Amino acid sequence: MPIDLTDRIIQPPPKNIVRLHPLRRIAQVALGVVLVLLPLVNWLRVDMPAGRFWLFGQSFTAQNIIILFYGCAVGAVLLLSVSMVYGRWWCGWICPQTLASDFGDSLHTRLDHIFHATHSPFNRAISRATWSILMIGMAIATAAVVCTYFYPPARVWSSLTSPLADTRVALHLAIISLIIAADLLWVRRHFCRRGCPYGLMLSLIGDKNTMTVRYLWERDDDCIKCGKCVTVCPMDIDIKKGANQMECIGCGECIDACNDILPMIKANPKPGLIELRYGLDPMRTQARLTAFQRIGLWDTRRIFLASVSLLLVAGFFFQVYGTRPTTISGFANGSINYAGGYILEEYVLIVQNGRPHTDTFAVSIVGNKDIGLLDTRKLIRVARSASRSSIITIAAKIGSVSPGERYPITIGVESLDSQHDRHTLDAVFYVPEQEAHLKAGT
Ligand code: SF4
Ligand code: SF4
Repeated sequence: MPIDLTDRIIQPPPKNIVRLHPLRRIAQVALGVVLVLLPLVNWLRVDMPAGRFWLFGQSFTAQNIIILFYGCAVGAVLLLSVSMVYGRWWCGWICPQTLASDFGDSLHTRLDHIFHATHSPFNRAISRATWSILMIGMAIATAAVVCTYFYPPARVWSSLTSPLADTRVALHLAIISLIIAADLLWVRRHFCRRGCPYGLMLSLIGDKNTMTVRYLWERDDDCIKCGKCVTVCPMDIDIKKGANQMECIGCGECIDACNDILPMIKANPKPGLIELRYGLDPMRTQARLTAFQRIGLWDTRRIFLASVSLLLVAGFFFQVYGTRPTTISGFANGSINYAGGYILEEYVLIVQNGRPHTDTFAVSIVGNKDIGLLDTRKLIRVARSASRSSIITIAAKIGSVSPGERYPITIGVESLDSQHDRHTLDAVFYVPEQEAHLKAGT
C-alpha cells in the first residue's frame, strides 16, 4: 500500500536510537573468532588420536571424561536459564547456524549487486555460480575448524594440502565439508524454522516474562504500513501478526527497520513500533523497570535458576583447576621368570596424577622382608592430570618362599613432592608350585 505523506514531515533520523544490527554483527564476528581460537589455544579440544582432551589449557586423560560431560551439562543448564529470561537471544545473536545463514544472505546480496543480477538471467547465473563456489570454500574452511576440535590442528592443516598423507583426517574433513556445504547451499534457515530442537524447547520453557520482540499494537495508528519490517526479516515473518511467533529468532532487524523509517516521516516521532520487551504486558516498558528487573530477574524462580547456574559454573571450574586425588591401580601381567636365584613377577602399575603439575612417584613394597622390588628405587614420572602405566618387577629369593603359596603384598606409591600423597595397593605374589619347586631343587 502506498505511504500517505500528506500530514507527515520528512526529517533526518534522530541520533539517540541504539541500532541493534551493528551490535549483532560484532557479537557474531566475536563468536566466529572465538570458535576458531578455542581449539588452537587448547581451551576446548578433544584429541582423539591421543585419547586426551583439553579444557582452558589443562590437559586431561580419557579417565576424566566425566569433566567434559559435566561441562556440557553446565552449558546446557546455563543456556536454558538465560533463554528463559532472554528468549531466542541465542538464535539471533550467537548461533553458528544463523551466523552462516546471515553470511550466505549478505554475500548473495553483494554478489547480485556486483554482477548486476537483475539485468539478465545470465548475470544472475554468474552471481549464483560465484556464490555457490564461495559457499563451498566456506564449507571446507568451516569443516577444517570443526576437525581441529578433534585432531591436532597441524595435522588438519596438512590434510588440507596433502589429503593422501593422512587419509583418516582427510576422510573426516571430506564428510564434514559435504554436510556443511549441503547446509549452506540448501538448508540454512529451513533448519531454524523446522528442524531446530532448541527453538522447539524454548516454546516449552518460555513464560509470561520471557523477552520477546513485540509490535506495539496500542500504537497501531502510527504505523505507515511501509512493510520494511517484513522485507528485512531473515525469517520472512510479519511481526505485526503477533509476538511469540515460533520462527522469530529475536535478531532485532525489524526493530532497526522501523526505528530507521518511522522518525523520518512522522511529526514529533516516538521511537519505532517494534521493541524488545519482557513478556507481553503493554504497560511493562523499560522505563518502569527496577535495576534488578532490567537484567531479567523478575521472580524467585529466575533468581533460583541464576543461583544454581552460578554454583554449577563454580563447580565446573573447581573440577578443571582443582586438585584431584591421585589414584593407583594395577594387575599381574602373568610374566614369571627366574634369574640369579630369584623368582621375578611382573605387575602393571597405573598411576593417575591428580596433582596440578608434573610429579614423580616412588614405588616400594611395604612391610614384607622376603619380597621386594627388583629396582630398589623405582621412580615413575607422571604429567599433571595424566595417568601412566609402568611395569614393575617384584622379586623373592628362591627358597624364601614356598612353592604353590600366594603371598599378600602391599605396593606403596609416594609422591616425591608431597610426603602426604601416599597410596597403597594390595596385590598377591604367587609362587608357581611345579616350576619353583624344580628351580629351587637345581
Ligand atoms: S520478526 Fe524481527 S526479530 Fe523476529 S526474526 Fe524477523 S526481523 Fe528478526
Ligand atoms: S516498519 Fe514500522 S511503520 Fe513500517 S510497516 Fe513495519 S511497523 Fe509499520
